[in-house]
Amino acid sequence: MNKKILVTGGAGFIGSSVIKQIINTTDCDVINVDKLSYSGDLESLDSVKESKRYYFEKIDICDETNLKKIFEKHEPDVVMHLAAESHVDKSIKSPFEFIETNIIGTYVLLEQARLYWNKLNNNKKANFKFHHISTDEVYGDLNDKETLFSEESKYDPSSPYSASKASSDHLVRAWHRTYNLPTIVTSCSNNYGPYQFPEKLIPLTITNALNGIEIPIYGNGLQVRDWLYVDDHAEALVLVALNGNNGESYCIGGHNEIKNINVVKSICKALDMHRPSNFKKITKYEELISYVEDRSGHDRRYAINAKKIESELKWKPKENFDSGIKKTVEWYLNNQDWCKRVKNKSNQDFINRDSTSWKELF
Ligand code: NAD
Repeated sequence: MNKKILVTGGAGFIGSSVIKQIINTTDCDVINVDKLSYSGDLESLDSVKESKRYYFEKIDICDETNLKKIFEKHEPDVVMHLAAESHVDKSIKSPFEFIETNIIGTYVLLEQARLYWNKLNNNKKANFKFHHISTDEVYGDLNDKETLFSEESKYDPSSPYSASKASSDHLVRAWHRTYNLPTIVTSCSNNYGPYQFPEKLIPLTITNALNGIEIPIYGNGLQVRDWLYVDDHAEALVLVALNGNNGESYCIGGHNEIKNINVVKSICKALDMHRPSNFKKITKYEELISYVEDRSGHDRRYAINAKKIESELKWKPKENFDSGIKKTVEWYLNNQDWCKRVKNKSNQDFINRDSTSWKELF
């Protein structure tokens, strides 16, 4: 019988890519549990929403009563937990929602999964998996050029976001150690690609440039991130959810270490080629770059050693940064209406750095 995968946060940037991956490459059913916060948007799932294997449940993962009903109604074999508050700047401004969804929400989901799992028959119980999707930011800062994060790295989070994700990782591990719940944790580097809410570096840069608005760069812009195209991450996640070993953790990364300033410059160059500026004040988009005060607690470098998932599960990213950013820029060029709509839909009070741009924009 085909498996049923319950995906939390499936209307988000990575979750929607995961759901499309499951529907398009497996015979599994998918139950998308999402409360549709400002960053969740169902349009990203238009291509699969008519599938008989896709179900949507609009539910907050902190809502114990309704979560219980969902487990009873759908009887999932696998849980892939992506629902989270995910924007570092927002976590610095209003940490409470991060504590609520990322820590309390993960606790509620784990408990409901455990109570459901306890009642399963032996076969279904033995094959159950709870896959928690986390971030390399839980490991904090790499202060030299050579070291890479791996499954053995020590936890040392810097921001309220990464601290809340680290807390949720610890809860998941404790539920495995204490209750034997079959869990797996994956920690991934920065993702980019279509349908990323335009508050994050890459979509913000594209959108600001196309509207002739300053492109803010924190500090000196020399912070290094290891960029992974979102569909490559989704492919890795589905592999882990179906074939990963219980109790294990896997680091996922793209071998694409790039300084933030170079990411922004490469986007500006791509835009110069595909949509040359017709703003009177600039001839090249790079002229919009504006250095702003650094983010508090800003980590300098993240980079991942992905050898374990590459050797054990034979996963490798398909995109390099050049091919991935080309696809991404093209997508945003063709989908500025989406950016405008999701921004208008959200009543987010953006941090000062962004708020001027956003107010000017829409
Ligand atoms: P996102 O903000 O685009 O999506 C989050 C989704 O979760 C949204 O659809 C939102 O509606 C939903 N959600 C939020 N709170 C909820 C709640 N209480 N109940 C139910 N649904 C809720 O985030 P993303 O970038 O797709 O990230 C997904 C996961 O991957 C997160 O756990 C994040 O920590 C992790 N991650 C992200 C990256 C990255 O670069 N974006 C990298 C590594 C790991």
